[in-house]
Amino acid sequence: MATTSKGPAEVTASRGPAEVTAERLRERGERVTPARLAVVEVLAGTEEHLSAEQIGERAEQLRPGIHRATVYRALDALGEFGLVTHVHLGRAGTTYHLAGDLAPRHLHLRCSECGTVLDVAGDILDPVRRKLLRELGFHLAPEQVALVGLCKDCAG
Ligand SMILES: [Zn+2]
Ligand SMILES: [Zn+2]
Repeated sequence: MATTSKGPAEVTASRGPAEVTAERLRERGERVTPARLAVVEVLAGTEEHLSAEQIGERAEQLRPGIHRATVYRALDALGEFGLVTHVHLGRAGTTYHLAGDLAPRHLHLRCSECGTVLDVAGDILDPVRRKLLRELGFHLAPEQVALVGLCKDCAG
């Protein structure tokens, strides 16, 4: 089995998101800093929808000595590099996920009444995406926003 790969770094059983992110940073000529790795470790370790502040708190716990402001800058930088995505959740603010193959792709539904956020499969809008592309040449990118509606409890 060939184990050498010239392609971009990939997540495998033996390499977690932090290692892959470190490699992708190096590939881009960017610095691998403790704060950047801490952010990735926090995001890789949860399925919750954390705010920047919560990520800061957990990163500090993970690696004592890291300053909160450094964590926020790391979060911004990882976003610019395309390694972290953010989703606007209305009143609940903005939440962050690892990008692309570093985390399961999913979309968000937000209840406008109670604020609950539900995760749904990332391909759920693919038929719509294809139709818009075919008919309008429009590239739908629903990943950065939560789709707003009423949850089961509030609609009832
Ligand atoms: Zn609700
Ligand atoms: Zn999510």
